[in-house]
Amino acid sequence: MARKILVLEDEASIRGFIVINLTRAGYTVIEAETGEEALEKLKGNADIRVALLDIMLPGIDGFEVCRRIRATNTRIGIIMLTARSQEMDKVTGLMTGADDYVTKPFSPAELTARVDALYRRSGGAAPEQAGEILQDPFLLNTRNRTLEKNGKRVKLTQVEYAIMKMFMENPGKALSREEILDTVWGRDYFGELKIVDVNIRRLRLKIEDNAQNPTYINTVWGYGYKWGF
Ligand code: CA
Repeated sequence: MARKILVLEDEASIRGFIVINLTRAGYTVIEAETGEEALEKLKGNADIRVALLDIMLPGIDGFEVCRRIRATNTRIGIIMLTARSQEMDKVTGLMTGADDYVTKPFSPAELTARVDALYRRSGGAAPEQAGEILQDPFLLNTRNRTLEKNGKRVKLTQVEYAIMKMFMENPGKALSREEILDTVWGRDYFGELKIVDVNIRRLRLKIEDNAQNPTYINTVWGYGYKWGF
């Protein structure tokens, strides 16, 4: 079965570099030059599992593309391509629903490692044990990989789901940011610990009654986070 990846990048030389390297790594790459084209091609290829989105584009930008994808698709893995100078972009990208970012210029090894890790997480892994974890008001369904709060579905990305699962399997236990990074992103992940914090911030907006004063995901200062009431 083809392992399909979408690459949205308007600069032909960078796009070519990505395509060559991902093709070499065994992926089938669908290319797009604009956000509009990317959304169109996603519609026609429901089996795309990971999308790489450049941010600065003619027409709608990469953040908007990310937002529109996430409005209907929580399963697909999304990696933003950011420039080194755009530090804020990383956070903005993650807040709009991206799972990861790669900073330009990147090496083929780094790019492939990131895509591989996300590809595995976005459904490539073996099916999980069916089951449910109930911690009122939350119900995590590990068969459908869904979360409900007070009986209402909370839409989560695959990364957010993986974090929630880790929390709910370890109630009351302080989890270090390194531990969360290893479990959710994988040991081969190259990225920064900050990605954990940004994803937690986004998750709090979705599950806390008041994200400014979280009561479910508690911060353990200088260490990490703790799930507990
Ligand atoms: Ca660009």
